[in-house]
Amino acid sequence: MSHVLAAVAWPYANGPRHIGHVSGFGVPSDVFARYMRMAGHDVLMVSGTDEHGTPIQVQADAEGLTPRELADRYNRVIVEDLHGLGLSYDLFTRTTTRNHYAVVQDLFEGMYRNGYIVPKTTMGAISPSTGRTLPDRYIEGTCPICGYDSARGDQCDNCGNQLDPIDLINPKSKINGETPKFVETEHFFLDLPALADVLRQWLDTREGWRPNVLRFSRNLLDDLQPRAITRDLEWGVPIPLDGWRERTDKRIYVWFDAVIGYLSASIEWARRTGDPEAWRRWWSTDGQGKDAQSYYFMGKDNIVFHSVIWPALLAGYSGEGARDGEPGQLGPLNLPTEVVSSEFLTMEGRKFSSSRRVVIYVRDFLERYDADALRYFIAVAGPESNDTDFTWAEFLRRNNDELVAGWGNLVNRSVSMAAKNFGQIPAVDPAGLTDADQALLAVARAGFTTVGDLIAKHRQKQAIGEAMKVVAEANRYLSEQAPWKLKDEADKPRMGTILHVALQVVSDANTLLTPFLPHSAQKVHELLGGTGVHAPMPVIEQVDDLDGGPAYPVLTGDYTQGARWESVPLEAGRPLAAPKPVFRKLDPSIVDEELARLGG
Ligand SMILES: [Zn+2]
Repeated sequence: MSHVLAAVAWPYANGPRHIGHVSGFGVPSDVFARYMRMAGHDVLMVSGTDEHGTPIQVQADAEGLTPRELADRYNRVIVEDLHGLGLSYDLFTRTTTRNHYAVVQDLFEGMYRNGYIVPKTTMGAISPSTGRTLPDRYIEGTCPICGYDSARGDQCDNCGNQLDPIDLINPKSKINGETPKFVETEHFFLDLPALADVLRQWLDTREGWRPNVLRFSRNLLDDLQPRAITRDLEWGVPIPLDGWRERTDKRIYVWFDAVIGYLSASIEWARRTGDPEAWRRWWSTDGQGKDAQSYYFMGKDNIVFHSVIWPALLAGYSGEGARDGEPGQLGPLNLPTEVVSSEFLTMEGRKFSSSRRVVIYVRDFLERYDADALRYFIAVAGPESNDTDFTWAEFLRRNNDELVAGWGNLVNRSVSMAAKNFGQIPAVDPAGLTDADQALLAVARAGFTTVGDLIAKHRQKQAIGEAMKVVAEANRYLSEQAPWKLKDEADKPRMGTILHVALQVVSDANTLLTPFLPHSAQKVHELLGGTGVHAPMPVIEQVDDLDGGPAYPVLTGDYTQGARWESVPLEAGRPLAAPKPVFRKLDPSIVDEELARLGG
């Protein structure tokens, strides 16, 4: 058993999340965490909403809200959506907690003391008429990279590149239209070149990464420049240095604070358990966390933050770069074991776009369909290692032909037949098992090794394919053995044996599918007469800020109960529940209905 950190990308709290967001990292990280727990590892799965930065401030201004009010709204929406999908976070929190501020400031100070954060004079914008600093969000101009004519001072929303206000072509103040004046101003930079060697050594020792992720990360190291980590902005974490702490016009850049969330959320989780040092088992390079593993899940547009910036922060804080230094007060910290990046999901051949209504939000999806239907689609057809298209026709086909006609049918016919003829799990005939019986049981047992190894290697598409092969074998077995023909009293012992074997394989396949389909796995467990928790589920709790800030909802749960990753022999004589369908067959008309909802 080891300690496994599942660190999941932080959704930005400026709107509801669509299924593209949860397909890349939300559901896959949950599948991984559930499997690792079932296999006996001590898993800590953390994330939260990312709530600082210009886009939230701009949107809040437009709606007449404070940034915090806007973040409160979408934090709650996102927490409820992730809960609806059954994502088993130990803690899903947010970046506006006082705990997060304190941890971010501690990392900043530690890096600064070690010389990896350096002040640098750059050109900042001021308003010529007032002489005051002009925050990034109040400057607009043409993007120098893609030519988009309303790029903001810190970012182009069209091409997604990060910008500096001085890069904009024809910059204008959004307040009064005047052309800003650029004057010398001081900002803080992360000295990435001083950390390049330690990053290269770390990348050279990585094993099992998706090749494109490793290649992309190595290429990023070839051209490392110091990177600004503070901005002219009011909404964010204050800079924790004398002379800066009280300034309201300079803040730590949102991406710097958001990546630190993995650590601050782990610390918050530990503080909430009553053992404030417990986070060290997943993080400290010395002592308890020495053999811990950490897996970071994200979309490919976020690789740079996880394979360069975050390990650079961890190394610099631990005193490991070219300038050496001493570890900060949290002690030396583990660098990521693996960066697990997914590709993009498109929608009916187009990029997701909220403004063009090429989108389906998680909430709307869950109002009309079951969470496991989406989880199944993501597992078999998600953007694991290629860009992938979501189409309603394919969703319908996967749901009806595979989930309902394959797995649902196997569960339904074996449980119904056993319930009707025996009312309980039938016993194996003393005459024993045939070769066909033994062969099927062996296929199911072998699945625990095959499927488990594939999930551990982040090859979930292949993993669920192997689990569904067990289902297909069991369906073929039932068709060949045709227990429904064994109606005579003399044949009943053999019928019982066949159904016993089939139910045992249903139970095994259900365990193999539990990380992917936890909601239905619980139902199948109960159909087989099982009691108690088979697949633990997250809960939403309203909690107080640990350090006196406003209360907020978190996603958390007790995942210590539940099935283990092993075949559990079914006891003959256990009463069977009244059978009912586990999955819903969808009417083909949903395809046209859903397409009509999409914008043109
Ligand atoms: Zn652009």
